Amino acid sequence: MHLDHLVTSKQLTRTDIETVLDRAAEIDADPSSVADRYTDTVLGLLFFEPSTRTKMSFDTAMKRLGGDIVDMGSVESSSVKKGETLADTVRVIEGYADALVLRHPQQGSAQMASEFVDVPLVNAGDGAGHHPTQTLLDLYTIRENASLEDLTIGVMGDLKYGRTVHSLAHALTNFDADQHFISPESLQLPREVVYDLHQEQEGAQIREHDSLEEILPELDVLYVTRIQRERFPDENEYQKVAGEYQIGPDHLEAASDDLTIMHPLPRVDEIAPSIDETDHAAYFEQAHNGVPVRMALLDLLLSGDGGDDDE
Ligand code: ASP
Repeated sequence: MHLDHLVTSKQLTRTDIETVLDRAAEIDADPSSVADRYTDTVLGLLFFEPSTRTKMSFDTAMKRLGGDIVDMGSVESSSVKKGETLADTVRVIEGYADALVLRHPQQGSAQMASEFVDVPLVNAGDGAGHHPTQTLLDLYTIRENASLEDLTIGVMGDLKYGRTVHSLAHALTNFDADQHFISPESLQLPREVVYDLHQEQEGAQIREHDSLEEILPELDVLYVTRIQRERFPDENEYQKVAGEYQIGPDHLEAASDDLTIMHPLPRVDEIAPSIDETDHAAYFEQAHNGVPVRMALLDLLLSGDGGDDDE
């Protein structure tokens, strides 16, 4: 893997992805093998937006590698409240930490911040842009439950504002997956993302649907997402689509017995709780996979195996 910073999944080649997933599998099988590897290492957490899984799993990952974290804390309690710019904040915190993890509401913020620091910076979500480490754990979960070869995946929900969707779709072009996107018209994938996907994968199998029924029987994986209420400029627009794209037990009759259902979480009402008890549900396992996958990524970035190109 040859990266100084991880800002978008577009940076990741198939080999990069396989390197991270293989390393995560090794760590998953024997976490004690890396328990003391980074005893003098500190990871800086800068979360300008709410987070549960991403922040806590990065925190856990660094500690399970033997290291520690420094946490900027909430925006309310930091100097951001006094008007400090993001560029200044990251330049200050890079003096306290060996790598930085940044989540910020502004699309493009991680790219901008990475240009100001020398330590590795990982994008943990930039507005409606990208969320590449979510993608790595998504791919790990797909590989564990289905296969990345000959994959037919349906991605349903908020494809416009859902950064996990944008990152996953780009990464899957490395595997020539058949990708089906299911959403109301108003929440379709941004046209520039569709264009990029076609550029990245010649003859890309990308299809858009407004209903799940027509495609469900063909799917190996259904990746469900939350409508990103906080990104709607107008609450009325959110209300028009809220609750529209849900999956319940009735849907499963038409699905393959092997269908894997994923969700980056948090879920609101997209997946009926009764599905949690079925063999289809992989979303809690998916969230747990965040730890070994982020341990693997940190290991590769901190050991220097992460970088030699100009990304
Ligand atoms: N946790 C994911 C994210 O931060 C998904 C979501 O919030 O809906 O993008």
